[in-house]
Amino acid sequence: MATAETLPLNAEAFRNDFPILSTVLHGDQPLAYLDNAATTQRPRQVIDKVVEVYERHYANVHRGIHWLSDQSTDLFEEAREKVRQFINAGSAPEVIFTTGCTMAINLVARSWGDANVRAGDEIIITEMEHHSNSVPWHQLAERTGAVVRHVPITEEGLLDLDAFDAMVSERTRLVAITAVSNVLGTINPVQEIVRRAHDAGAVALVDAAQSVPHEKTDVQAIDADFVAFSGHKMMGPSGVGVLYGRLALLEAMPPFLGGGSMIRRVTLDGFEPADPPAKFEAGTPPIVPAIGLGAAIDYLNKIGLDKIHEYERFLTTQAHAVLEEVGGVRFLGPAPEKKAGIVSFTLDGIHAHDVAQILDRHGVAIRAGHHCAMPLHKRLGIAASNRASFYFYNTPGEVETFAEAVRATKRIFRRR
Ligand code: PMP
Repeated sequence: MATAETLPLNAEAFRNDFPILSTVLHGDQPLAYLDNAATTQRPRQVIDKVVEVYERHYANVHRGIHWLSDQSTDLFEEAREKVRQFINAGSAPEVIFTTGCTMAINLVARSWGDANVRAGDEIIITEMEHHSNSVPWHQLAERTGAVVRHVPITEEGLLDLDAFDAMVSERTRLVAITAVSNVLGTINPVQEIVRRAHDAGAVALVDAAQSVPHEKTDVQAIDADFVAFSGHKMMGPSGVGVLYGRLALLEAMPPFLGGGSMIRRVTLDGFEPADPPAKFEAGTPPIVPAIGLGAAIDYLNKIGLDKIHEYERFLTTQAHAVLEEVGGVRFLGPAPEKKAGIVSFTLDGIHAHDVAQILDRHGVAIRAGHHCAMPLHKRLGIAASNRASFYFYNTPGEVETFAEAVRATKRIFRRR
């Protein structure tokens, strides 16, 4: 574990690349952006790439027999190849560009789900899922008569794997789990869960929205059938996400959206779908966001995901320590060594929205609310919480500022 003396990276060295990070708000408060689990910021390299494409290379892809369209298509397909390498997918057609993680999961629910799930089948998710990885399965259950079951969490905020084992059976058609909880920060043993799902003959989907941007991901090692994530949580433009799918499954699945690009041929009587990935990329895809995501991947590769992961764990440990000194803080989720760069908490007797509002006066941006995980908050017996979440450009100094602002919040409420 890194210490302040042996940090794996120097955040200050990157901050100049991010114009927005030098923002000063409310007159004289430097921005401490600690809402990275909601979305991250973009470096100049990604912004410049987006501008460059619009200024010099932009046309629709896979359509024109003209010079610009060729350029745009090449850049778009290069971005797909960058994603493929980044997650170690076996082949480029296994990488489907969507509008985001939510769309990727809905694609699986509509396409694979409608074709394969029947009344009485079981879909296993967990109590810690983001609504993106629960609502599509409830909708699928409503359409098909399947049943959604939830792996409970332990008091510590980990998945109860014994309960999972007891739940998996020949009725299980799908196991859909998050790699990292966007509230608890818990890092789940996805490889092990996928193995157990496969042993039971089920298909496995991993919601990797909170893991792919922060730690090395090898989809072949995880062995999941589907992996979904969003570009905007890893410095890419908003409006692009990825569905990784095992090729044999993608080939067997019917298309979800119909339109241009996803067909081999259309007649007056019907259509014949194209092969993946085009089969699942109906209409004009997120061309420039995908190319921008490629630039974000270049940036991440230069730093190295291992260093980023280790550094964020240092910030998480530091945040726990300084908040403990403040006192009156209830942490959600496990000890720092079992979680990613996400620290959620409640402050004794102070509403989460009040905390976030006062922190904002100090320039500190954190999230307040249920973080799209209402069932989890119900399980924890609270309506809302606060969440600070880190990326490699955050500094130990910002964590100190954050703790100071929490201390100030307590002082204000003590006076009332
Ligand atoms: N899953 C998890 C774990 C998330 O944290 C998020 C975003 N908060 C999503 C899914 C949905 O991502 P998006 O809104 O980009 O589709």
